[in-house]
Amino acid sequence: RADLDIYSIRKDFPILQTRVNGKSLVWLDNSATTQKPKDVINTLEEYYSKYNSNIHRGAHTLAKISTDAYETAREKIRLFIGASSLEEIIFVRGTTEGINLVTETFGESNIEKGDEIILSIMEHHSNIVPWQKLAKKKGATIKIIPVNECGELILEEYKKLLSPKTKIVAITQLSNILGTINPIKEIIEIAHASEAKVLVDGAQGIAHIGIDVNEVDADFYVFSGHKIYGPTGIGVLYGKKELLQNMPPYQRGGGMIKNVTFDSTEYNSLPYKFEAGTGNIADAIGLGAAIDYVNNIGINRIMAHEAELTNYAMERLSHLPGLSLIGTTPNKSSVISFILSGLSPDQAAHKLNEDGIAVRSGHHCAQPVLKHYGFNSVIRASIGIYNTREEIDILANSLMKMLR
Ligand code: PMP
Repeated sequence: RADLDIYSIRKDFPILQTRVNGKSLVWLDNSATTQKPKDVINTLEEYYSKYNSNIHRGAHTLAKISTDAYETAREKIRLFIGASSLEEIIFVRGTTEGINLVTETFGESNIEKGDEIILSIMEHHSNIVPWQKLAKKKGATIKIIPVNECGELILEEYKKLLSPKTKIVAITQLSNILGTINPIKEIIEIAHASEAKVLVDGAQGIAHIGIDVNEVDADFYVFSGHKIYGPTGIGVLYGKKELLQNMPPYQRGGGMIKNVTFDSTEYNSLPYKFEAGTGNIADAIGLGAAIDYVNNIGINRIMAHEAELTNYAMERLSHLPGLSLIGTTPNKSSVISFILSGLSPDQAAHKLNEDGIAVRSGHHCAQPVLKHYGFNSVIRASIGIYNTREEIDILANSLMKMLR
């Protein structure tokens, strides 16, 4: 059991006091973005009211404080994801930018005509579109790992897709639509046996199951701060040092150089080589505060709480006549997608909103997998640390009312 005091956790999130349509807000849109604890909000306020300054370039006191805070955040992230070195932690805008960085640099210099890239059918558009652009430019081929009926990747099919031409496998850790937890350690092991590299999209995995990049031996791991109770506009790309060292820079400008003349430029060392221009300093520090918050609770306890709540929600919703669940593998967490007979997902989401319940309807930026199951749009309820069984009951009762 999770053994968490959820009611005390809820007090840390001011927004949960908000009322919507006269009802208490039930935030079940955590896969889109998570709410922020006071610690994160206070960290941002403190940064701007006490020590706002550009980093790495000033003799003055505030520059030193902000640089220290920024680099301390990097260290918190390193520890949280189990990376060996600070040189492997690159601040980016989010998952999307992290993946684009890899396709535009690693992809640009390693993928050649005739090479193969493996994705899975359940990828988010941000882990499809950048690879598509690269494949088109280079004359490479994209191959797709299929899923079974309940939303698990078919590993036997994956093994058949690998060949000596496979350069990279890019795969989500946790599906934002099916909730499936993919066996990334095994997927990576299989890829490495074929000498292919692996990028893991941790956008959903990071807050719900955590990661140890060394333990799973990921080559690249990307995530967004806003999905783990941190600010928007900040995220992280982890890459193995030897890969990052051999990649060309992504953007060029200040901060990523050692020496510049009009004839040539010597690039800065890692991780700065990939951090051109003034980054999102306050939000990086805010992400550090979010990681402290999660660590104080403990990712294992979070996992246990969310697994329990996911099971409870799946069980309750499965008994509602006229509701069909998508993504029914028991090996899932936090994401519950479904459709209702007689009501469009959009209509249903609006009706839930009347009861103060925030869910998402639409294609959730994962059109290929929805199409595979025969849908254009679904309703998605997604769970975070502050959700309770009572909130799942409120959701189920509101749906029941609608279906009647
Ligand atoms: N991958 C997955 C699995 C996601 O769920 C998301 C966000 N919905 C993304 C990538 C993109 O993240 P961001 O918009 O923060 O860049």
